[in-house]
Amino acid sequence: MSEKFSATLRIGDLNDFIAPSQGCVVSMKSGSARLADKPKLAKAAPAKETLQTDPVKISLKDCLACSGCITSAETVMLEKQSLDEFLSNINNGKTVIVSLSPQSRASIAVHYGLSPVQVFRKLTTLFKSLGVKAIYDTSCSRDLSLIESCNEFISRYKQSRLDDKESKSFLPMISSACPGWICYAEKTLGSFVLPYISSVKSPQQSIGAIIKHHLCHKLGVRPSDIYHVTVMPCYDKKLEASRDDFVFQDQDQMTTEVDSVLTTGEVIDLIQLKAVDFSNLDESPLDKILSNVSEEGNLFGVRGSSGGYADTIFRYAAKTLFGHDIRGPLDFRTVRNLDFQEVTLEVDGKTVLKFALCYGFRNLQNVVRKLKIGKSDYDYLEIMACPSGCLNGGGQLKPKPGQSGKDLIQALETAYMENVLVTDPFENPIVKILYDEWLEHPGSEKAKQHIHTEYHPIVKSITSQLNNW
Ligand code: SF4
Ligand code: SF4
Repeated sequence: MSEKFSATLRIGDLNDFIAPSQGCVVSMKSGSARLADKPKLAKAAPAKETLQTDPVKISLKDCLACSGCITSAETVMLEKQSLDEFLSNINNGKTVIVSLSPQSRASIAVHYGLSPVQVFRKLTTLFKSLGVKAIYDTSCSRDLSLIESCNEFISRYKQSRLDDKESKSFLPMISSACPGWICYAEKTLGSFVLPYISSVKSPQQSIGAIIKHHLCHKLGVRPSDIYHVTVMPCYDKKLEASRDDFVFQDQDQMTTEVDSVLTTGEVIDLIQLKAVDFSNLDESPLDKILSNVSEEGNLFGVRGSSGGYADTIFRYAAKTLFGHDIRGPLDFRTVRNLDFQEVTLEVDGKTVLKFALCYGFRNLQNVVRKLKIGKSDYDYLEIMACPSGCLNGGGQLKPKPGQSGKDLIQALETAYMENVLVTDPFENPIVKILYDEWLEHPGSEKAKQHIHTEYHPIVKSITSQLNNW
């Protein structure tokens, strides 16, 4: 397979990513980028014939998250969200905060043969030496997203049991943490699927809201004076950060919850750019105010390398609705392939909860088709665009020479849970403080304002359709 393909595409099943296209779907004609074609759901092919050597600039708003730029030889430079912008903001004296995803931490840990907590400490050293003020962990904000999701599920489940026509559209509730899936749903599936998608923001956007709305207020700092960067396993997160829903007014100017997103690979580029011997870098104390780390230095989190949504909500629903306190791992059964697994709860011989993990484009298409024809009997679907989920995101690090994609995923799964104490998000002391000081309680008006969002079906304009003709 061509070296032009991303590491992840080389290790994964190319055809199972969302809409890999042969070239950028945004037309570069007339000096400014404009939409030329919708993402094609076609088999990707090496794109020799589309080779274009000059870098082309397009804006994130134009990008359709079709993954084309990682499957084609076209050189596409996104105008924002780059390493250059990150470094220039530090140099311009902005207060920079970095939030690190646990998937990126695991990828860097496997790459260097370190533990995730060592990576967290070394990255703290690296970023602080560059001038970053604080480094947090999105496992912490994920607990907040999980609590809000549990609360939303219980409410939808109860409403779905009401005997009226509308009750049908409350379930299945579908996870909302994957922007690849959200982008596909909005741009391709339209309004029929959007009511099923959870309104809860992803961990990336939740930590953005915590920092820009709560922390800034607490510290008496203007949100626009903070430059907040996340480190994420995929490029899709850059698109998520640039959504209009996450832009807000700060006095006389607009600001965003997440100003920039670096992929895991871009952090390695930074390490190389600064010629840092990462393996031998000193380990700094962690910033604990928004990180899931205990006094003893253990990380804590939930089971499930794509956020643990199905796992956490299933346990919560089983306990809250049916009084079943499930300890230990859930009994997920593989249905068609490892990327499609389901778990059920039976009470008095009747299935009362049916959840599924559904990863990769092929599985996603199947569940959506069933939903469309009214044949879905799931209560909850954890949908992730990438096969194998977030550990296999398009921004993660490639396998070492001689290492297979399968072996890398296995190593990432192990590293992801290394030093991690599995804990109930409802017991997270930091999240408890966030509710006490700011959000009041799960599902409150303040929580809806800051930790929930909306989705918008994209209606294609006549002009864009004529362009495609
Ligand atoms: S992901 Fe965005 S930039 Fe890349 S090819 Fe698709 S539309 Fe173009
Ligand atoms: S499944 Fe892939 S595209 Fe979706 S959030 Fe995870 S890494 Fe990103």
